Amino acid sequence: MLLSPTQARQLLLHAFEQRYAILAINADSHAAVTDCLEAARQADAPVIIETSLWQIKGHSYGLGDPVLGVARYLADLMVLANSERYRQVPVVYHTDHIKGPETMRILQAAIQGIPAGLHEQSLKLFASTVSLDASDMSEEENIDTVLKLCQLAEAAGVDVTLEMESAVDDRITPAEETEKLIGSVEALYPGKIALWAPGVGTQHGFTSDDGYSGFQTKTIEDNIQLLQKITGRNIGIALHGSTGLPNEKLQAASQCGVTKVNWSSESLYLRNTAAQAYFRDNAAKFERQHKEWKNSVMDNGLSAHIAQSYVPKVVERMHTLGAEGQASQFIASLELMETLG
Ligand SMILES: [Zn+2]
Repeated sequence: MLLSPTQARQLLLHAFEQRYAILAINADSHAAVTDCLEAARQADAPVIIETSLWQIKGHSYGLGDPVLGVARYLADLMVLANSERYRQVPVVYHTDHIKGPETMRILQAAIQGIPAGLHEQSLKLFASTVSLDASDMSEEENIDTVLKLCQLAEAAGVDVTLEMESAVDDRITPAEETEKLIGSVEALYPGKIALWAPGVGTQHGFTSDDGYSGFQTKTIEDNIQLLQKITGRNIGIALHGSTGLPNEKLQAASQCGVTKVNWSSESLYLRNTAAQAYFRDNAAKFERQHKEWKNSVMDNGLSAHIAQSYVPKVVERMHTLGAEGQASQFIASLELMETLG
């Protein structure tokens, strides 16, 4: 099921309390989204599909128009996640690394809802959780922008669940910065931040030669304590730049307060190597005289081939994060909460 902002916040709290992390994948095609949901179903794990600017403007979704891209992601996820096959999988749609002049237009649409409809019916498509890329922003700009997002939600009478970030690459965010950023938002809009993304010694891309020797679980624990002090609540950590972080560190991180692990570079790499092998190994079948030509050149041929090796890798990573079996646990707790009102 595709989660609302309120349900997404409950899921993140569930992950914090049960000491696991949810895999957040920058799935960049319809086939990749299908594979991620299938992996989540097999692992009985919740999953986050997250989209950066390059994805929502990309060919398979927005074709240059980022708001159209968000709408297509949401429409696809709504249908897929609410289908019989995936109804028991909690699915979060998250806007990740939104930056540049279009930031407010995109996030306003994601928060207030993008009108969509069929025949006489109308509905609005909402993101589950949102974040923006603060890497080029001053602390003041970051705070102002996040406050504006809260105002937009308030003006539309809708809930919003936020991931707030500091610049994350190759640094450890100082405590004073965390206090200022989180404290400023929490003072005016308490309870809306459900994830904090500080620099914890990792970096985006294939940048680690040493498995990130600077990454320590102590940094995570210090952040959790600090967030408790600032907000009086449990807020989990979003880990950016997880590619190259050894499994034992990922496992330890998810047991001490990391609740969202972003995964992009390695995921793309797994898919591209599978595609490379498909085209290499099936070259003869791409000749139009070949009797298997049609089956080989249809999207289904390539996509099904990639899924064969990709889905088990996603399942494996969900296991590493301790998320297996947590989908049904969360759905049961959600049903209980709804029964109790
Ligand atoms: Zn990131």
